[in-house]
Amino acid sequence: MVEVHQIKCGTDNCYIVADGENAILVDTGSAAGLEKVIAECSKYKMKLIVLTHPHFDHAENAAAISERFDIPVAVNETDVELFENYDAQPLKSYGLVGRIVLGISLKVLRNTKVRRPEKLIFVKDGDSLKDYGIDAKIVSIPGHTLGSIGVDVEQKHFLAGDALDNWIRPALGHLFCDFDAIRQSARKIKSLGERTIYYGHGNPTGNFLL
Ligand SMILES: [Zn+2]
Repeated sequence: MVEVHQIKCGTDNCYIVADGENAILVDTGSAAGLEKVIAECSKYKMKLIVLTHPHFDHAENAAAISERFDIPVAVNETDVELFENYDAQPLKSYGLVGRIVLGISLKVLRNTKVRRPEKLIFVKDGDSLKDYGIDAKIVSIPGHTLGSIGVDVEQKHFLAGDALDNWIRPALGHLFCDFDAIRQSARKIKSLGERTIYYGHGNPTGNFLL
């Protein structure tokens, strides 16, 4: 049976999805969390890193962890332009929480260059992760970034990246590149049905969209 382990790096989450000894890492946290994430990954036979999208708080450690465990990094091709260049897909926000988060994030986003991993592979909607030892599939959920992806594990757990967030309560992602797309992606997550939802920010909940 697959288990999802939350690793908290300040206000950012990344997740180890493990089936016995085999595991994948979904997102990697920012640089301050590197040693903590490596220590957690060292408990497993790591097979793959999946980036829900390449913003620094999800992807800053990707290259280092990929090299440390000699594993590839999976990302949607649409978002590759975000490595080393946040401005390729500028963000907007909604609501007071969104304005605060965007204000804090923008300075770091603009000044942090997320190193592009050398072992990069491209994944798209519907791709299975069975080859990496985990019963999970990639779900395209654009809007926060244009190539954002989620990971649906055993039709029980859904790792949503920043398409949704739980800063105060579960909500549509407060930051977005394309608002129509992120709303459409929320409908897609709703259509998955009963799931535990794992956020890029905040603690897991049920599928609150139901
Ligand atoms: Zn983000």
